[in-house]
Amino acid sequence: MRTAAERRVWRNWAGTATAAPARWCRPRSEAEIVTAVKDAAASGLTVRALGSGHSFTAAAATTGVALDLSGWTGITAADTRTGLVTARSGTSLRALNAELSGLGLAMANLGDIDKQTLAGALSTGTHGTGARLGGLATQAEELELVLADGSTATCSASSRPDLFAAARIGLGALGVVTSVTLRCVPAFTLLADERPLPVEEVLERFDALAEGNDHFEFYWFPYGRNALVKQNNRVSADAGAAGSAGSVPPPLPAWRRFWEFEVMENAGFGALCRLGRARPRLIPALNRFSSSVLSARTYTETSHRVFVTPRRVRFTESEYAVPRESLGHVIAELRRAVPRLPHPVMFPVEVRVAAADDIWLSTAHGRESAYVAIHQYAGLPYQDYFDRFESIVAEVAGRPHWGKMHSLDAARLGALYPRFGDFLRVRAETDPEGRFGNAYLTRVFGSISPLALLAPLGRQDTDYLLPAAYARPPGRTGPGGRS
Ligand SMILES: Cc1cc2nc3c(=O)[nH]c(=O)nc-3n(C[C@H](O)[C@H](O)[C@H](O)COP(=O)(O)OP(=O)(O)OC[C@H]3O[C@@H](n4cnc5c(N)ncnc54)[C@H](O)[C@@H]3O)c2cc1C
Repeated sequence: MRTAAERRVWRNWAGTATAAPARWCRPRSEAEIVTAVKDAAASGLTVRALGSGHSFTAAAATTGVALDLSGWTGITAADTRTGLVTARSGTSLRALNAELSGLGLAMANLGDIDKQTLAGALSTGTHGTGARLGGLATQAEELELVLADGSTATCSASSRPDLFAAARIGLGALGVVTSVTLRCVPAFTLLADERPLPVEEVLERFDALAEGNDHFEFYWFPYGRNALVKQNNRVSADAGAAGSAGSVPPPLPAWRRFWEFEVMENAGFGALCRLGRARPRLIPALNRFSSSVLSARTYTETSHRVFVTPRRVRFTESEYAVPRESLGHVIAELRRAVPRLPHPVMFPVEVRVAAADDIWLSTAHGRESAYVAIHQYAGLPYQDYFDRFESIVAEVAGRPHWGKMHSLDAARLGALYPRFGDFLRVRAETDPEGRFGNAYLTRVFGSISPLALLAPLGRQDTDYLLPAAYARPPGRTGPGGRS
């Protein structure tokens, strides 16, 4: 039986971050969010908006006021002609997908799961895959926020564009996002093609696969020879339907979805992971076994039912965006590194792609990107693996996912983002007292400095803000661990 104090502890999904907020608040209206922010200020407390806790980093952790937005959900406006849909920030992607589907709409791209809240997913730069598509934040057309002084602000490309450029991927540092207007697309069907291929072949054909598919990704078990390649492409809505003239396959029957997604990919894989955790020396063999039993499947399905699959086996993850052309180098280095690690790796590596975008803190800012995500089963050691990975991606100016494990600080991050100084300036303008701060933000953005206000609009280098640190060459960061 937990004590009342223990019940008040906040934990993330992966169990990699905990916090004991001084106060919990569950607002049900914008006015209540405003009141929560003003009350926090009156008590000298910080405020963090909580999503669903699916960040591996302590991005949402707070010792101040934890703003639980699970009572602040739902679509408030939808124009099926333009595809513009406004939703409250605490809406889960799962609920959003279902509501959009009912309107004949969909999000153009999604990540692997739908447990996140809309604002939580946007705030850390959550992405799916697709060489011609950006992450979820690129689908946002307008945001509404409650700022540190309790005022409300609406921002878009034409209204307060700097706030918009910063807050679309803002880690909750600029205010509480209360609603998001998304540009959705007409609901679409995907033809999913998943098959094992030798990893060498995938790397040789990487650019063609990335360019030749709407959504391309691959999973590679680091001790195995095969990668599971997923190629998902848009087809007409009635393709695959019973009686349709096309030659595309039908949706998977319910029993097969259950067998493959729940039994094989979760229960079965979870059992292998538990065996590996109990007998770590078996892990490379288990990993090769997982790689050898990969099988092909093709089916058509509503887009979000292809993008999203259940993830019930808990793990720890780090993910970096690298310039797309350096993917081959990163994978080659990882292949060399993994067999030399002191602790074997149970989980596969996931590789995805994205188009360049212009959001200031987007991991794909200004460059076509490949995302390399490494994972380790919960409870197995991961530090050496993640450290080695981080030094490999540092060679190619990799940018860490804001919601996944990394050890970079403001100095290192500032050198990776041309508009970092502009972000710090907007933060200093909107939240000069750090009302929305926490330890993670202090690490990744540094302390709020009035100097940031001097950053001239659009300046491309920000060296003068943190001169000594910015001058450091890419490489390992110092102590402080990873979160
Ligand atoms: C199993 C699993 C699968 C995943 N798959 C993917 C994937 O495919 N692609 C990918 O890119 N990422 C993926 N992630 C990472 C995940 O999408 C991000 O970490 C995301 O931020 C989690 O959303 P959340 O709602 O849980 O937010 P939280 O983790 O709770 O919060 C994230 C940040 O958003 C801020 N925030 C939340 N709500 C608001 C608000 N209303 N206003 C201002 N700030 C706010 C928080 O303060 C915090 O800084 C995955 C994570 C897990 C655990």
